[in-house]
Amino acid sequence: MSYHSTHIMQLPRKVIIGNNILRDCGVLIKEGNSNVKRIAIISGPNVKSKVASLIESSLSDRNIEFQWIIAYEASFYFADKIINLLKNDEISIIVGLGGGRCIDLGKLIASRLHVSFISIPTSASHDGISSPFVSLKGNERPYSIMAETPLEIICDLDIISNAPYRLLASGCGDLIAKTTAVRDWELARDYNNEYFGEYAAKLAFLGSRMIVDISNEMHGSKPSGGVTRTIVEGLISSGVAAGIAGSSRPCSGSEHLFSHALEYITKNKCGLHGERVGIGTIIMSKLHGVNWKEIRDALFRIKAPTTAKEINVDKDQLIDAMILAKKIRPERFTILNRIELNRTQCQDIFAELGILD
Ligand SMILES: [Zn+2]
Repeated sequence: MSYHSTHIMQLPRKVIIGNNILRDCGVLIKEGNSNVKRIAIISGPNVKSKVASLIESSLSDRNIEFQWIIAYEASFYFADKIINLLKNDEISIIVGLGGGRCIDLGKLIASRLHVSFISIPTSASHDGISSPFVSLKGNERPYSIMAETPLEIICDLDIISNAPYRLLASGCGDLIAKTTAVRDWELARDYNNEYFGEYAAKLAFLGSRMIVDISNEMHGSKPSGGVTRTIVEGLISSGVAAGIAGSSRPCSGSEHLFSHALEYITKNKCGLHGERVGIGTIIMSKLHGVNWKEIRDALFRIKAPTTAKEINVDKDQLIDAMILAKKIRPERFTILNRIELNRTQCQDIFAELGILD
């Protein structure tokens, strides 16, 4: 894209963050969508059993008809099945309620059915809760694809705070990753003549700095409500930065390529998304010549993984991922296009960073 070409920003229309707000979801949905009659809620069985009665009475109070779709599988195949199921129904909104898989399924289904999507995350494990990107099994490319930005995002902090701590720590990893994602984008501007959005880059980068700052307040268990809110706001801002940029560039660089390569090599048996990209950020910070110790120490304080062992990956898989990373998405120019590493050099770097400990 040239600096002067048309640029489209996709942003959420409304973001609602608060305590105990799920019980008001009928009011919140109706406020922005007065003509809504019928919605489909994509959710997992556990989340549904916990919050169904709360949601159903709130929707019924506002005369919103609903149907539940249980997300048994986070794949394109499953999404196609649901699209076929819903295509002749008069559904005006798809709601994704749950963690990553339900949000991503809902986002894709809504986009394909050309209806609005409302994101209701029950954990804060990655920035997909607000971004236009979808990561599902069965994609011919092992990275996220573009769908639609959620029209609205409803974040109930009580529910998110009660999710396992590991998910929140993973969200911190996905945010700290913006340190290297933004530096990779700068390289793409300087060496590959790519569009670079100064504002989107600064917004995404801010999220990574904030994680370094608040890492002192996170000790491996439920943090204060204020810290959870800050992380949720950071993840939403990160998705918004992608919406402003019109691409995942501000949020996803070499550390994400490394994570996608690890998923490919281990067949997805390698920790959570944010856990992998957190480790990827330590590695790519070293390659970028930025303060990798600051990143590693912040993740360590948060009790997010900083070693291969913690995500069930061995030395050879780690090296394979490093070599494969730049081939995963060849058009995405990053630090990996500027530095050529052989297996011994990769191993030496991992050892220096303490990742093989
Ligand atoms: Zn991510």
